[in-house]
Amino acid sequence: MSLQVPGHVKGRQSNLYSDDEQLDEDDPGTWQDEGIRNLQESVCLPNNGRLASASKDDSSHLTTVIKMGWLDKNPPQGALYYQRRWVKLDVDYLRYFDNDKEVYSKGIISTAFITNVTSVGELKFEVVTNNRTFIFRGESEVERNNWVAVLQDCTRGRPLRSTMSPCSPLTPDYLGNLELRGLRSKLYTVVTSDKVFLYKNIEDYRIGVGITSIEMNVGNVKDTDRRGFDLTTPYRIFSFVAESEQLRDQWVDAMRNAIGEALSNSEVADRIWAEPSNSICADCEAPKPEWAAINLCVVVCKRCAGEHRGLGPSISKVRSLKMDRKVWTEELIQVFLLLGNERVNSFWAANVPPSEALTSSSCSEDRRRFITHKYRQGKYRKYHPLYGNQKELNNALCINVQGSDVLETLSLIFCGADVNCSTGMASCPSALSLANAHSQPLQAELISRNLNTELPRSEVGGDMEARHYLPAPCVSHNGFLFKTASMGRAITEHKAREEFSRRWCTLNDGTYSYYESDKNSNPNGALKASEIVCLAVDAPERHGYVHTFELYSESERLYLFGTDDPDSHKEWVKSIAKSLIPAPAEPLLRLAFERIGRLKCKDGLNLQTSKVGWFALVGSTLHAYLEDSQGEEIHLRKLNELSIQQDNEVLVLVEKGRTLYIEGERKLDFAGWCGAIQTAAGSGGDTLSQQQLTETDIPVVVHSCIGYITQCGLTSEGIYRKSGVNSRVAALCERFRRDARSLRLREGEHQVDDVSNTLKRFFRELEEGLFTSEDTSTWLSAAAIQEESKKISQYQLLFNRLPRVNKATLQALINHLYCVQRFSELNQMNLHNLAIVFGPTLFQTDGKDFTAGRAIEDLIQHYTLIFEVDEQQLKKQLDEITVIIQVREKLNTKFPSTEPGGHFICTVYLEEKDKGEQHVKIPGSMTAAELTCEVLDRRNIRVKDKDYWNCWEISDKEEMERPLHYQERVLSILHSFGTDSHLLIKKHVAMEAMMVYLASKVDASKHGMMKFREERSILGMGLSSGNFHDRYFILNSSSLRMYKEVRSNRPERDWPVKNLKMYMGIKKKLRPPTCWGLTVVYECKKQEKQERQQWYLCCNTQSEMREWYATFLSIQYDGNVWPQDGLQQTRVSRVLPDTRHGNVSLIPLRGSENEMRNSVAAFSQDTLSLFRDVR
Ligand SMILES: [Zn+2]
Repeated sequence: MSLQVPGHVKGRQSNLYSDDEQLDEDDPGTWQDEGIRNLQESVCLPNNGRLASASKDDSSHLTTVIKMGWLDKNPPQGALYYQRRWVKLDVDYLRYFDNDKEVYSKGIISTAFITNVTSVGELKFEVVTNNRTFIFRGESEVERNNWVAVLQDCTRGRPLRSTMSPCSPLTPDYLGNLELRGLRSKLYTVVTSDKVFLYKNIEDYRIGVGITSIEMNVGNVKDTDRRGFDLTTPYRIFSFVAESEQLRDQWVDAMRNAIGEALSNSEVADRIWAEPSNSICADCEAPKPEWAAINLCVVVCKRCAGEHRGLGPSISKVRSLKMDRKVWTEELIQVFLLLGNERVNSFWAANVPPSEALTSSSCSEDRRRFITHKYRQGKYRKYHPLYGNQKELNNALCINVQGSDVLETLSLIFCGADVNCSTGMASCPSALSLANAHSQPLQAELISRNLNTELPRSEVGGDMEARHYLPAPCVSHNGFLFKTASMGRAITEHKAREEFSRRWCTLNDGTYSYYESDKNSNPNGALKASEIVCLAVDAPERHGYVHTFELYSESERLYLFGTDDPDSHKEWVKSIAKSLIPAPAEPLLRLAFERIGRLKCKDGLNLQTSKVGWFALVGSTLHAYLEDSQGEEIHLRKLNELSIQQDNEVLVLVEKGRTLYIEGERKLDFAGWCGAIQTAAGSGGDTLSQQQLTETDIPVVVHSCIGYITQCGLTSEGIYRKSGVNSRVAALCERFRRDARSLRLREGEHQVDDVSNTLKRFFRELEEGLFTSEDTSTWLSAAAIQEESKKISQYQLLFNRLPRVNKATLQALINHLYCVQRFSELNQMNLHNLAIVFGPTLFQTDGKDFTAGRAIEDLIQHYTLIFEVDEQQLKKQLDEITVIIQVREKLNTKFPSTEPGGHFICTVYLEEKDKGEQHVKIPGSMTAAELTCEVLDRRNIRVKDKDYWNCWEISDKEEMERPLHYQERVLSILHSFGTDSHLLIKKHVAMEAMMVYLASKVDASKHGMMKFREERSILGMGLSSGNFHDRYFILNSSSLRMYKEVRSNRPERDWPVKNLKMYMGIKKKLRPPTCWGLTVVYECKKQEKQERQQWYLCCNTQSEMREWYATFLSIQYDGNVWPQDGLQQTRVSRVLPDTRHGNVSLIPLRGSENEMRNSVAAFSQDTLSLFRDVR
């Protein structure tokens, strides 16, 4: 339903109002004039999404719905017409709606107030409440009787209520009159638990007859102005105005609480409370505690939870029973049921002096003191007999976790047993793995919740309050390290031992300090943990001291510390990391990272605001914890793209389906990260699995070469046998080795034989070989097996034994070779020839022994059997290749292709030339809008409202550009433009202004002065002459006419609009008098001869130029200059088989094997099945 049309407004208005109210309206005009204005803002619904989500999210109602259906409802107060209503009944309410898609009812009747339900007259029945009677009419007798029966059943035997209070079924949290913008009179609004009810007035509230209820689980409340606030739900925005600012705040609070309530889920709480001692706070005995310290295993009340939080997450991990549903795994719940507050307090609170015990009414200060004593210092705990004997404690822990006594484990852990201690067993190196191995999930749960817990420690002296938790958890560590002078730039050179000085270093209270010696009390320098933005661990022996690490500070300083003692180094790295990584990113600490720290970043979902992310780099994996989200891993060698953009300030990581932008907030640590990430994303060495890989684990180099050969080399005679130019092959190999991802093989730029030899050289020089060094000889001996079936199963066995990457690579390669030899009549490379070439290459033999060739021949010949290939798929692939070959032949002889559906691969840029390059296959039917969406989707860019993304034809030579109309077919544009032109996707910033201008006009036409210049060729030599002259122009629906002056009667020129193309910009060489120029191209066919003219128009202002352009566009496209719904429809409908081909680059550079296969699917008979394969 559109909201833009004023005529609909009244309808919308009535949606929200009870029938009664409408009838009571004696002067609809009074609300309507205000209503129109307000409603467009306040009661607006998201496009389209509404119906779908409405019926889906409405399940909250559906679960309890007893009956629903269409009924006619009488208009109250004796009006004539029945109104068709969608009616729903649940245990608590009878509601009626405008239609079955509506989420918000027009009327809601509390069943508790229904006094009687009876059939009356034909098909009708009455629903009687204390002082109002509703009459409904069913569609049939049966239907009516059914409703009556159900309603009676539902209201029978219930305690009837005459008025709402005092024993109301709703205990209101907040209520009162509240203005809903657009309505004349205020509504009586009631916030209760997780819902908001709207009533016409307080009387209606008292008798349980309302307008609607709003489920707050989908709500969001926001202040709008002094007294106003919006309650936003996916279906509607309710704009309220309170009577005063103060009341506004109270309403907002009440509604927000309702949202909190709605979001909470009492399910976990109910289960936890099932253990009776859990239903009183472990610290103060307040009833129904809704919070828990999940590592300490206590259930606590809200006030105590606040103090627990104050201890910091390294001591107490506080979670809500109601709101943190995700954390409550079955194991965790079981731990809480097994232990329970009572048992757990037998440990934590074994020795509480009565004078120190809390009560539910204790003040905050008492609570803080008690909770600090209890958990931070362990003052009241029951000491384990082994307390103080670390080795015995650890030992006891390892033994105990194999059994079921979880309380004992808790006691051991909090009396000092090290959960990270080594068990000395290779199979189960840690207590956690031991618990798991002995099927003790609850033990494992308790341990894993305490992997980073700080143990209770009694402080001697010191101000406890000052040590109270602030963001950095308290980690303590000290010892001697060797330090160089701090630097303001990256360390590129080796630092000799002499450059280091011995320093006493301490990490305490979130501050890392270094002293001249351990006797000094004044530090030489100190860094707050919160100022440390990155910690990098150097490879051993990089500097004079064997083990070094670097600290990067917020103020762009770099500190280098070293030691020869690996344990001390490890301990320092661990402690410092722990002091700078916050609780939500804690799992990062368990990684063997080489770099850890925080960075600002953005991702696809919200490119407006950056979030803080915590990152750790381990090998070629980047682990990340972004604000408000779960941890994730980014496999750097599998990235689609990795680049540094915007003047070295943003690192862009493009993964399949997502793009992450890491911002260089500070130069020094950002440069460090960029370098480390780029190195990690590059190939790690010369073995197969160390290469940059595609989604399907094929090295990018292999994938690129195969794709290129498939595209351009299958008809090349002697492909793979002929050698390329050695220097070029070597250069290609080197480029691939450095960064395979960034190398794009292009026809014209790269030679087929160079590429084929690059691929061969890659395999020949591969460390360990494709068949792995241990199995190579077994593969070769399989070739000698006489019996064919036995031989094939031996190959299969060996194939399945290969590591993942080798397997994927071998299959892709043999598939490729199979295809190559299928076209041997064109390329002369039959099975045997290929085998001769590839045998020694793949087995890395000298070529004198023919066994290697025989093995490869077997693999190609029995390709379908050995690799269990789907013959249908293979046939389709071969068909596709055939078409490619045909198209190429056609392209070579005659261009452009006139075949319907002739495809073309084109390079499209995003936002700037040479940036965001995408290779898109352009099917004949692809429109500019589809291409735009394609590129945006690939880059994961969301189209926002008023983002006029457009595809532009840009001519560098002419210095002009033209936004393609969204319906224009791209292929014909490609065919018409020259080599100096390219396509670019960027926003059309003037589009909004143009549309506003067009909307203000009755018809599309324009007249006015412009400066004109013709491109004249002198003696056919293409030299231009002439100057710009003032001319008067009239542009109407059929033609553009040029007059010498305003008063002229006859036009000097008259061009049909349909033959014109207008470009923005004029080349500077022509010295246009203003910078608001248009280049106009006139094309027409006269007697089979193409005629082309080009001339220039110059306007005085930018807006004038835009007006001419807009008028021109509007005329050419009948006023349809931009898709009505932006690009949404295009995005949806683009999933048509025909346009799908645009998804895949013809020269596949990376992607899944399917993508690779399908990327050569220029045409396919069964396009739909192809589509299924891809997704
Ligand atoms: Zn409490």
